[in-house]
Amino acid sequence: MANTSLMDKIVSLAKRRGFIFQSSEIYGGLGSVWDYGPLGVELKRNLKERWWRSMVYEREDIEGIDAAILMHPRVWEASGHVAGFTDPLVDCKQCKNRFRADDPRLKGTPGEPDAQCPVCGSKGTLTAPRLFNLMFKTFMGPVEDSAAVVYLRPETAQGIYVNYLNVLQASRQKIPFGIAQIGKAFRNEITPGNFTFRTREFEQMEMQFFVKPGEDERWFEEWRAARMQWHKDLGIAAEKLRFHRHGKDELAHYAKDAYDVEYEFPFGWQEFEGIHNRTDFDLSRHQEYSGKKLDYLDPATNEKFVPYIIETSLGADRLALVVLVDAYREEEVEGEQRVVLRFQPSIAPIKVGIFPLVRKDGMPELAHRIADGLRGRLTIFYDEGGSIGRRYRRQDEAGTPFGVTVDGQSVQDQTVTVRHRDTLKQDRVAADRLLEYLRSQLSG
Ligand SMILES: [Zn+2]
Repeated sequence: MANTSLMDKIVSLAKRRGFIFQSSEIYGGLGSVWDYGPLGVELKRNLKERWWRSMVYEREDIEGIDAAILMHPRVWEASGHVAGFTDPLVDCKQCKNRFRADDPRLKGTPGEPDAQCPVCGSKGTLTAPRLFNLMFKTFMGPVEDSAAVVYLRPETAQGIYVNYLNVLQASRQKIPFGIAQIGKAFRNEITPGNFTFRTREFEQMEMQFFVKPGEDERWFEEWRAARMQWHKDLGIAAEKLRFHRHGKDELAHYAKDAYDVEYEFPFGWQEFEGIHNRTDFDLSRHQEYSGKKLDYLDPATNEKFVPYIIETSLGADRLALVVLVDAYREEEVEGEQRVVLRFQPSIAPIKVGIFPLVRKDGMPELAHRIADGLRGRLTIFYDEGGSIGRRYRRQDEAGTPFGVTVDGQSVQDQTVTVRHRDTLKQDRVAADRLLEYLRSQLSG
């Protein structure tokens, strides 16, 4: 199947070039847990920094926080996770596979003799659906007793809600305002998969925007439009992006309205960001469970209310996967096949490859001097191994937007060629103006 093989190629490239590795690979790997390599960590950092800049630095009405992963266990009672964060599961007694009870591949009623396993095809081997908590549980303190049970947070949002008053008072913001956070969350997913799309440990970029009830619908529309535009500005192909609005049967019990931003992956349209109108559910629940007042006194009208929350919740790993998949191209250039990642230059892990044409005649010396001048200002990769064509191909696969080549003429007149990854256009640039030139290209 063509689509499967495209995903396989991307997974293989991600490993070969150092974007993403299987966790604990030398021990056979840990299921659905992934590590970011030298290029992957840069790509993800660039995405996170861009998000943070657009949320926190470019707006006066959003503050950032970094809450702890471990929280008071009552938080998860208030949030509904302890009671409701469960997926009914079905096991096959024959092949030991496990399915969500709502898996469309299941035929018949699990637990009944007519039900058929979609993997091994056995009849009557499926158990009745059972509940299974998706939160990772651990113990605080040296004794494993139930009084000290804590959870690895299944979402970062709750760290924002419980800090809402602290941030409001410390920052002297007024409603409407938002709180942004980037952090790890954990879910013991039963059907993880599709590379880094669904993983048990993941990173979220969430912004919770607190508004006056009655103004929620306007803000919801504003954020929905802003988030889609943000993805398009990242260079993601517009025709591969769409909204999916949650129907009545899909809406979480607390949500008044919800849209997913979806991308068309090789394995189908899948959500990577959610925009939700969560009403006053979260703060009302924390008010009830903590006994602390969380309402807001509007200084203009003296009106008291529990704010509504508009949430934008973006998966950092999913966004990195979207960007990786969207950038991937197989092309024929200069009579040769190449694989290239057409990242927008601003998010490319390496900005510039530096290559002496040959390893003699003063070229490596000049190339090293140029590399030293750029290092610390731009992410660079110096490479003098193999033919120049092979070195270009390696950087194409890394998504490096610019290649600087030091040739015979460079040694004579201190100019270099700059090769553009996508157009293959080559510019001749004075070595002492290279940084300025590259910066103008990167900001353009
Ligand atoms: Zn089976």
